[in-house]
Parts: sequence; C-alpha cells; structure tokens
Amino acid sequence: MFLLAHSGITLAAARFVEKMNKGAVRGVVDYRFILIGSVLPDLIDKPLGGLLLRETLGNGRTYSHTLAFLILLFAAGLLFKGKWRNVFLTLAGASMMHHILDGMWRSPDTFLWPLYGWRFPRGVPENWIDQWIQNFLNNPFVFVPEITGGVFLLFFLAAVSRTGIKSFLLTGRL
Ligand SMILES: [Zn+2]
Repeated sequence: MFLLAHSGITLAAARFVEKMNKGAVRGVVDYRFILIGSVLPDLIDKPLGGLLLRETLGNGRTYSHTLAFLILLFAAGLLFKGKWRNVFLTLAGASMMHHILDGMWRSPDTFLWPLYGWRFPRGVPENWIDQWIQNFLNNPFVFVPEITGGVFLLFFLAAVSRTGIKSFLLTGRL
C-alpha cells in the first residue's frame, strides 16, 4: 500500500477508537504522531532500501517493517514518561497499523528479522512511483484502499481546518 491508504485509513481508525472511548482516550490521541507513525516505516525504509541500498538490496521493506522495530517503539514508550510516552506509544500503534495494511505476516523473513538471518530478502529495484501508478490504474486491491484512504484524508483535513491549522500543529488534537 501507499501513502493515501496508510495515512487515511490509520487516521480514520484512530478517530473511530477515540469516538468509541470518548471518556478514556479523549485528549490522548495526538493526530500529528498518528499521521507520522502511519507512514514511518516507509519514510525510513523506502529511502534506505530503495535508494541508498538500491543496488545491493533494492527492497523498500527492511528494518522498520519488522516486529523488532515495533517492539523498540513500544519499549521506548514504556521507558519514557509523560509526553514522550504518548509520542512513542502513538508512533508504535500507528506503525503497527502500517504493518497490518502492508500484510507483513506474508513476509515472515522480513517481519521476523533476524530470525531467518541478518540479511533482508533482495528486492527488485523497480521504480515504485511508476509501479504504484500502474497498480492504481489496474489493481482493485490497490486503488480501492488508496481511494478510501484519500476520502478519509479529506475528512481529516476538513476536521483540521475546523480546529484551526495552528492549533492542530501545536496540540495534535481535533
Ligand atoms: Zn510499508
């Protein structure tokens, strides 16, 4: 999956959980870090495995598409206190959603790294943007989640503009 599906669907899921548990999590959900966490594994791995290590690895799913990465984020959340606890736990939850949307259980050699060895599977260093456009035009398993995520993102942007962009950037609340 790509950016629209990851960010839109994760934001909608967080909003749903917040609405369902009004009393319990109200004021806890920081949508700034939901947004960052929802795309964090790709923000790290795509430049790393796909650009920096393009010739030797050519794989856009490496360290931050692993269970170890999630455990690290959750552990940081538990170690820190106060604001930083919330930041890391939010990043961990949103990144976990990213792994679910990527279907990482289908790639145990990556997800369970380093259980199957220290090296990540070699990918094909194809052009992801071209590939995404092709899939977006032809593959319903790509265009349905991307369009759904895009619609959710529009609702999110509308909520941000109601809250006020400055207030949102400062607090992350909607
Ligand atoms: Zn990913």
